[in-house]
Amino acid sequence: MPITKSNTNSLKKTDLLSLTLPQLQQWFVERGEPPFRAKQLFSWLYQRLVTDFSAMTNLPQSLRSQLAQEASIGPMVVRSEQHSKDDRTRKILLELDDGKLIESVLMLYPPIGESSVRATVCVSTQAGCAFGCTFCATGQMGFDRHLTAGEIVAQVLFFARELRDAPWSAKGLPGSAPIDHITNIVLMGMGEPLHNYDNVLQALRILNNLDGFNLGARHMTVSTVGLVPAIRKLSQEPLQVNLAISLHAPTDELRSQTMPINKKYPLEELLAACKDYIAATGRQVTFEYVLLAGVNDTAAHAHLLSELLVPLKQFAHVNCIPVNATSADYKSPSGESIRAFRNILFEHGVSNSVRAERGDDIAAACGQLRTRFEKNRNQQ
Ligand code: SAH
Ligand code: SF4
Repeated sequence: MPITKSNTNSLKKTDLLSLTLPQLQQWFVERGEPPFRAKQLFSWLYQRLVTDFSAMTNLPQSLRSQLAQEASIGPMVVRSEQHSKDDRTRKILLELDDGKLIESVLMLYPPIGESSVRATVCVSTQAGCAFGCTFCATGQMGFDRHLTAGEIVAQVLFFARELRDAPWSAKGLPGSAPIDHITNIVLMGMGEPLHNYDNVLQALRILNNLDGFNLGARHMTVSTVGLVPAIRKLSQEPLQVNLAISLHAPTDELRSQTMPINKKYPLEELLAACKDYIAATGRQVTFEYVLLAGVNDTAAHAHLLSELLVPLKQFAHVNCIPVNATSADYKSPSGESIRAFRNILFEHGVSNSVRAERGDDIAAACGQLRTRFEKNRNQQ
């Protein structure tokens, strides 16, 4: 049949990675199949990580053909993959089925001291972003669209397959067990997860399912620019994921300069929502603080930040992040100023850490790979 406007809709395949287990059961029932097919399929998709219906050998041949016609498994194309020199950071540029480009990053952490080996995927939740933070490469692109739950899930599965096929072990650490699966996800790629609330929560529920990928909620982190109503909503979810707030400035004046959302949800409202979140969940909140030399990294800023967070006691943790250079003119502070900044927080009893810089040779801050790729493409 020729493709005409009237039948293009019926040709649109169902992306199975967008469906929860109950939705998949319903999908099969609508097609006259028993609901147990959904669990079988979930196992193929999320435990065996297959990409092809023909591999699903416990499904009848006729059903496999029907699936191939009516459904898809995360349709997207990897346009570029880069590994850092030490192979601890891998970054992919994905082209979605409408041509939009997004990035995902895999970060591998060797076992150090008490903490075991980790493989963390940094996931994008939107193509572009509507919030325009001045230091952020994605923010400078503007907003294209929300990702579907399936497009979010597919990013995790890509790296899960890669590690399964070639487990990673840290160079220089002989004897450490290789890692062959994803242990954590952080929603810190392109986009604002809480602006795409329903699809993001759907994706997290799918990845959390015991019969499927079975990733614990405590291994998932949602990072937000500070959308107050959505933070309050998140505190009521049965799925208790980790929450990270992009704070980045201790006063409204400064925060509004670098993060326009602060004009809508100023610090007082944001901190009140965090307090309520802590009261509702009993969980610690991480405050991300991108250090911008000469802008938000002085001793005075460290004191103000401490004053803001001391009332949250042990429920606040600050993650200091030396800024990754983007096209905007920000510089990362010296190691010495970072230490001084952190010491002031410690003196106030505010728990904090510094994010190790990594992957600079492959444009680590999300949005940068796409920016570079598009520049090259435009020059061709
Ligand atoms: N939109 C969400 C999640 C994606 S950004 C948010 O803003 O929280 C993930 C984290 O990367 C945020 O804390 C963000 O502020 C930070 N970030 C953005 N640009 C950066 C840069 N150039 N260098 C370091 N961190 C950056
Ligand atoms: Fe969007 Fe987060 Fe970047 Fe701000 S930091 S522009 S909210 S992706």
